[in-house]
Amino acid sequence: MKKICAANWKLNFSPEEARRYFAEWSALRPANLSCDVLFFTPAYDLTVAAEFAPAEGFHFGPQNIYFETSGAFTGEISARAVHSLGARWALIGHSERRTLFGETDDVIAKKVKTAISSDLAPMLCVGETLAEREAGQTKNIVARQVRAGLGRVVTETASHTLAIAYEPVWAIGTGRVATPQQAGDVHAEIRRILSDLLSPPRAHEIAILYGGSVKPDNAKDLASQPDIDGFLVGGASLKPKDFFAIADAL
Ligand code: PEP
Repeated sequence: MKKICAANWKLNFSPEEARRYFAEWSALRPANLSCDVLFFTPAYDLTVAAEFAPAEGFHFGPQNIYFETSGAFTGEISARAVHSLGARWALIGHSERRTLFGETDDVIAKKVKTAISSDLAPMLCVGETLAEREAGQTKNIVARQVRAGLGRVVTETASHTLAIAYEPVWAIGTGRVATPQQAGDVHAEIRRILSDLLSPPRAHEIAILYGGSVKPDNAKDLASQPDIDGFLVGGASLKPKDFFAIADAL
């Protein structure tokens, strides 16, 4: 399986700033990156990503979609429309969506289904809070989120590209990274859940990314874990040079 290095820009970069970013990316890009690169941008930057993607060889997508693709849903993002712009991935269930915008497992499951029916590869985010980790609930929480997120699309996911991003909530944007051992243990558990839910061969084709304060100086150790198939990077993806260094560790 090819590893994936994905950027989550969150609510950063206007279209003009996005264009400057990709110009810098293009100038710095090393020829020998062995992983796939994805950018999850704000919706209004997707057309800029689409301009650069073919020549730069990356994929891109939105940080969120709605589970309906058209109609009276003011302010939402249509999976079908972003696909028509060239997006091939969608980030779904990021912890900021779960905690700040009240997304439930049920809503997230519907979004995963819509992504697949709109021909977008979902990257389903899962992860425990600090209180849940301290209560020894990490594996239960992650199992619930993976099973709920994929439970309605077991048949479709047999042939559709998807990925899981394990992001412990206590490590996102905090500078507090999971140890390679902590991350590796949860990734192995996610692989086991995928084997059970789908099949063992299919589970080994699905990339499981780690996210949470990944930086150039901790990426190599994390990448050495056998079940870590890539990174989802927030803060450090905002500088092309740092994002390259992280991608280079995979
Ligand atoms: C994220 O937003 O998905 C993330 C992992 O952020 P950071 O790398 O800044 O912790």
